[in-house]
Amino acid sequence: MTPTAYGPLQHDKLIGAHGRGLLWLLLAVMSLIVGAVLGLTLSDTTHVALALLLALCGLLSSVLLVPQALRSLRALDLMMSGAHDGLFEWNPRSKRLKVSQRLLAILGYTEDFLTSSDAWLEIVHPDDREKYNRSVSRHLKGETDHFYCEYRVRGSDGRYRWLAARGLAIRNRRGVGTLMAGSVSDITARVEHEERVRELALNDQLTGLPNRRSLMERLPAVLAEARRSGEMVAVIFIDLDRFKHVNDSYGHLFGDLLLVEIARRLPVVLRAYDTLIRQGGDELTVLLSGLSDRQEACHVGQRLLELINQPLDIEGKTLRISASVGIALFPEDGTDSDTLLRSADLAMYSAKAAGGNRLSFFESRMREQIDHRVALENRLQSAIERGDLLLHFQPQRRFADGSLCGAEALVRWQDGDRLVRPDQFIPLAEEIGLIEPLGRLVMDKALAQFAEWREHLPPDFVMSINLSPRQFQLGDVQAALIDCCRRHGVPHEHVGLEVTESVLLHPETGAIRTLNSLHASGFRIALDDFGTGYSSLSYLQLLDIDCLKIDKSFVGNLDLGLTARGARNGAAIVSAMIALAHRLGYEVVAEGVESGDQHEWLKMVGCDHCQGYFFHPPLSAHDFEQRLLATMMSSTA
Ligand code: C2E
Ligand code: CA
Ligand code: CA
Repeated sequence: MTPTAYGPLQHDKLIGAHGRGLLWLLLAVMSLIVGAVLGLTLSDTTHVALALLLALCGLLSSVLLVPQALRSLRALDLMMSGAHDGLFEWNPRSKRLKVSQRLLAILGYTEDFLTSSDAWLEIVHPDDREKYNRSVSRHLKGETDHFYCEYRVRGSDGRYRWLAARGLAIRNRRGVGTLMAGSVSDITARVEHEERVRELALNDQLTGLPNRRSLMERLPAVLAEARRSGEMVAVIFIDLDRFKHVNDSYGHLFGDLLLVEIARRLPVVLRAYDTLIRQGGDELTVLLSGLSDRQEACHVGQRLLELINQPLDIEGKTLRISASVGIALFPEDGTDSDTLLRSADLAMYSAKAAGGNRLSFFESRMREQIDHRVALENRLQSAIERGDLLLHFQPQRRFADGSLCGAEALVRWQDGDRLVRPDQFIPLAEEIGLIEPLGRLVMDKALAQFAEWREHLPPDFVMSINLSPRQFQLGDVQAALIDCCRRHGVPHEHVGLEVTESVLLHPETGAIRTLNSLHASGFRIALDDFGTGYSSLSYLQLLDIDCLKIDKSFVGNLDLGLTARGARNGAAIVSAMIALAHRLGYEVVAEGVESGDQHEWLKMVGCDHCQGYFFHPPLSAHDFEQRLLATMMSSTA
């Protein structure tokens, strides 16, 4: 509703017409009286004629103007009741209020009890009264061009409706409003919609918890309050451990259900004024305010961990999950939101790095550690980009006659003057998505080296490389391998691919299909570290493999001189593994063979290939050439 439909402009005219009509009527009556009196007393025809003329004019104009004014007033009433918006007219001095039927209808009232502004104020929401009064008085004083206010008014059903009131005042010479009129529209639907939009923007759709944006709005206020009260605030970061694996194994929908369940569980340890927030993904944050010491935060953190650890029943599956929890305290670990959140994140990160399923408080040394890690990540990335990784090759020999049958390519990172072992950077590369380019680099270097040495190696020599499960997710391993073999002229049959059982645990990565397809195109597939993972025979059936690599931990346990039960059992397990593998048609490689005794025993139980320090440690390309190729070359010469 705009002021043109019913505004003081029209109102002015109506009042004017009405007033003028009445004035003329008054003048006519007065001139009649004056004329009559003059005619009677003076008998002066000129004066009588003048008075009669005046009276005639007055009568004429009032006859013309009064009906016009009455029509206008009726039109005003019609407008007031017919308009879509409610209308009002208010006299600030007398407080008299006139509202249209429509305004009453908006609020659901049938009876017009809103005859004064006091009655109106009664039904204005208590929280909005001050705002409403302020806008009215500012407009009356002439401080605003228009009166406009959005506020809540109680309807007949007791519920508040949002109204937008607009109006204009008529002013006296001093500029003070003496009459105000305007319209009122019902904006409840719009305000509710806006509130919903805001709610959506501040809440996570999946769990219904406040989201990161909400945290960023809330935290500064919580800190300001803590600054005033001198109390402690804790920011607790919770990151579920291995949540990605849950998603990968059971699908995202399952992961979502898990998050919903966790979000439902945690609030039991929180007080009414604590907040649980979903930052995104599997990260949750808890804000604890009004703490007196860190022990309280520690207690809540522990309870959160326990709750997360409780078994979860989702879609008929029961599983357990753990989390890494980091706690940062205001004011000691940060006095502003950003620093505090970063500190909590670092503490969480440190809990994760220590193996997860634990709680850790922020410590200043964590900042140095994270700087160190970021620097490490950057250096690793540039090393991969520059191709600055090198390979060592660990030969494999047959137990039967000690002849050379293959080698495993093991990656090393020359980081400055330090030669870094893969255990220290492969997990990092996997985590930050560098494993794919790293894997390609290893493939390329290993096959290039093999192609160079091949003529000096036994004809059935197999060069093996390790493939990480993540590589199957991130890139087309099959295409990369086939292309690599083509470029270096290496037949697929001479390339061994070592994968661990974890590959089998993630069917959705397509790794099994890819590996079976690679096997069909001639590559040799070896199951690495056998015995340390699930060692499930049913899994073995899923994958077309050629070779089982018994993990070095089993081989190391073969203390063959001993009669101790443990050693006997270890030996029994290894011989059973070998027998089983042979029954299934696989060859067996024993890894980490260090001693003559181990070698003898493994040979005796029929193990096929031997890899370990007993024969050779992993050798640099140069050493490999010196120790193996030189003798081969001389023997072939
Ligand atoms: P792995 O595949 O089980 O490799 C065998 C590891 O055992 C190698 O450690 C090797 O140096 C060590 N080793 C060999 N013989 C003996 C022995 O007689 N005794 C003992 N105690 N250890 C022995 P390395 O080179 O540190 O590699 C560690 C792991 O890093 C590898 O374990 C493999 O899982 C991973 N890795 C190595 N290169 C690559 C790669 O190119 N790509 C991927 N994805 N992973 C790799
Ligand atoms: Ca391996
Ligand atoms: Ca291994």
